[in-house]
Amino acid sequence: PSAPEEPLTEALISLGNLSGNVRYARKRAGETCRIMGVVKADAYGHGAQAVARHLETCGIHDFGVANVQEAMELRRSQAVSDRSGILAFCTPPPSHLVHYTQYDTELTIADNGQLHAASARASAYQKPLTVHVKVDTGMGRLGLSCREAMDVLLAAEQDPWIHLKGVYTHFAQSTVDDGFTRRQLQEFLQLCSEFEHRTGRKIIRHAANSGALLCMPESRLDMVRPGIMLYGYAPERRIGPLPELRPVMQLQSRVIFIKNVRSGTPISYNRSWVAPTDCRIATVAAGYADGYHRLLSNRAMVTISGRRYPQAGNVTMDQLMVNLGTETGIREGERVTLFGWDGPTAADLADLCGTISYELLCSVSARVKRTIV
Ligand code: PLP
Repeated sequence: PSAPEEPLTEALISLGNLSGNVRYARKRAGETCRIMGVVKADAYGHGAQAVARHLETCGIHDFGVANVQEAMELRRSQAVSDRSGILAFCTPPPSHLVHYTQYDTELTIADNGQLHAASARASAYQKPLTVHVKVDTGMGRLGLSCREAMDVLLAAEQDPWIHLKGVYTHFAQSTVDDGFTRRQLQEFLQLCSEFEHRTGRKIIRHAANSGALLCMPESRLDMVRPGIMLYGYAPERRIGPLPELRPVMQLQSRVIFIKNVRSGTPISYNRSWVAPTDCRIATVAAGYADGYHRLLSNRAMVTISGRRYPQAGNVTMDQLMVNLGTETGIREGERVTLFGWDGPTAADLADLCGTISYELLCSVSARVKRTIV
């Protein structure tokens, strides 16, 4: 038998909201700045192929992924045109370099050894590799210090098998300015202007993620790399409400069972919730294996028919329960919004379980069908 047409739990992906978020990113970036759409981690859980394809129709021609496997998925599916660039942020082991050549993927270089390996591989295949040099100005994750980076930039520039396309850095904290971020930017800019001065060459300088694009306009440079804002969220609450951004994903499921319970009835594992009064309890077909975090147990609200109801008892692997109180109008089969544009948002839920919207979005698991709307 074929799979049921309508899954119980699905993630609706609104391309209309994605377009609106891109328009806002464009407004903040200005007309001349390139925008790299960050579509790593399956486009933050939204589905990289559909998102990248749509971003191209919105005028985005640079894409950021975590590794070459993610780039291969975009190339194989022809989600983006051959002319669009795909940069993998993680530096690769030498054994992956062959795939960069084959799948036309731009490479992050974070030291001299990597440059030599890339050059040797490119020469063996008689096809230059395109690279961006990564500079660590304070993130402490990947990259050369500004002092070390100049040598690698110059070596890359002179290497016939290397096409040096860009240089980039990443901010440790882009939404607060306590001087640290500004110093990161200044160091980076100094390196870039020294390189330009010494070689007379301009390469693409990029630094800003969503937070920097929103909070530090001077960090826009030649290209910005927004991720989370494209998916409808500010990187942090403190930036304040940004009504221009709309969630792109709505995670929803269905009521599969309703029962009346007496006051004092325990619900779910460990009996962590006990009915305070006689009430109706709905069982919903989604759980932590779908990406609805167990830390939301007894904390979050869900939306059914435009009204909010509290989730009751521990979230289980595939199901969760909701306290409908005395409401009798809700039927089995009814749609339940766990998070999305109908609310609560992924940011609301992230606050409740002490994490960030990014993690909740990326956690929506592979078994949840993504449905484009
Ligand atoms: N650039 C790099 C190198 C990243 O690792 C990320 C994501 O973490 C981004 C840009 C996008 O960041 P954000 O989603 O905060 O805009």
